Amino acid sequence: MTIKRGESNRCPVCGGRLKPGRATIPFLLPHTVVLIKDVPAEICSDCHEPYVVGIVTDRVTELLGSVHNLQAEVLILSYSIPRPVPALAIPVRV
Ligand SMILES: [Zn+2]
Repeated sequence: MTIKRGESNRCPVCGGRLKPGRATIPFLLPHTVVLIKDVPAEICSDCHEPYVVGIVTDRVTELLGSVHNLQAEVLILSYSIPRPVPALAIPVRV
C-alpha cells in the first residue's frame, strides 16, 4: 500500500502507530514473484503492514520494470542496489 507524506501516521487497516523501518515486500507479476528487500517503509507496530511513500514506489516500479523480461519464477532483489546506468548516458570520448 502507498501513503502520501504528511498523512496521519496511523495504520489505515488497524489504527496502529506507524514507525519508519525496512520491509521485504512481495510483488506478484504475471509470471514472476519478486521479493524486494530493505524497502524503506512506514511499518505498523500492531499488524506489521508496511506502507511505502511515493518516491519509494517510483524506485520499486523502476526495479520491477528492469526485471520483467527475465525468465524467472521468483526473484529476490535489494532496494538499495545501485541504479543501472542507461547506455545512452555514458559519455563517449574519442
Ligand atoms: Zn496496522
